[in-house]
Amino acid sequence: MAKSKVLVVGGTGYLGKRLVKASLAEGHETYILHRAEIGVDIEKVQMLLSFKEQGAHLVSGSFTDHQSLVKAIKLVDVVICTISGVHIRSHQILLQLKLIDAIKEAGNVKRFLPSEFGTDPARMEDALEPGRVTFDDKMIVRKAIEDAQIPFTYISANCFAGYFLGGLCQPGKILPSRDSVVLLGDGNKKAIYVDEDDIAMYAIKTIDDPRTLNKTVYLRPPKNILSQREVVETWEKLIGKELQKSSIPKEQFLASLKGLEYAEQVGLIHYYHVCYEGCLTNFEIGNDAVEASELYPEIQYTMVEEYMKRYL
Ligand code: NDP
Repeated sequence: MAKSKVLVVGGTGYLGKRLVKASLAEGHETYILHRAEIGVDIEKVQMLLSFKEQGAHLVSGSFTDHQSLVKAIKLVDVVICTISGVHIRSHQILLQLKLIDAIKEAGNVKRFLPSEFGTDPARMEDALEPGRVTFDDKMIVRKAIEDAQIPFTYISANCFAGYFLGGLCQPGKILPSRDSVVLLGDGNKKAIYVDEDDIAMYAIKTIDDPRTLNKTVYLRPPKNILSQREVVETWEKLIGKELQKSSIPKEQFLASLKGLEYAEQVGLIHYYHVCYEGCLTNFEIGNDAVEASELYPEIQYTMVEEYMKRYL
């Protein structure tokens, strides 16, 4: 079977650039939407040019020009969107409704992967304000996809390793201390950490796989399901030293949100659900969904200890 042609929308982003690389590495003809709006952002332009050198095609388009999106989509079989969705950086999840309109009109798309790549929003109906906005917006996008009967795959990637392992699961930190750590509650709730390059590779594997059609694919690499305490122990082993530990109880954590900027509150609520409630691991994935490390055992995923060696 010929490999699908892929369009990445958001190919200059933190995750998007990894999807472009994985798509090229897997031998897909790869297109990247190049938006005029990036203007004189020299870093982005240089990145796009380096992808072009590696064989990707740059195709111009804009979210403000519907026909340009339709034209770009008509070149490919699969669209992967990695538009921003982290409030402290940028959150543009609902812009995908425009992309969905264009996919509908183009009529040729065999698979659409919307910008998800985190907690499964369908399981976050009871999430707290204001953090729930991320899940609510992603559910609005899902509804539009399903109403339009666009074939989809939703990737539930759990925790990006860079944010969570880098900061020893502490919000607002992305480099591990060699001295101290604040545990969220008892630090015993399990979460799931995935190397961002592995997320991209798993996602690319799904696009031509009939087993993942119209399904949620959970990324649960079994050795990377650890509590905050276990992450800290892994780091302590690497540095050969015990960290000083304190703990912040749930009530105090929630009270500390008051008066903070909206974007910070959104992020903190996500940590709350992951680290105090264990929202990534407190359910079985069920028969309707599939798990990536089982589907693709050939991928040697990066284990937590290996990932953390980069911070030594
Ligand atoms: P980025 O913030 O890196 O942004 C990705 C891309 O979004 C940009 O490169 C840009 O694409 C595009 N974009 C931004 N603003 C606009 C705009 N106004 N109009 C059109 N395009 C725009 O995104 P991330 O990689 O951080 O996030 C991708 C996904 O991953 C999101 O769904 C997010 O929620 C999720 N995520 C999950 C995490 C986890 O731990 N599970 C952590 C972080 C993110 P370009 O300029 O190329 O067109």
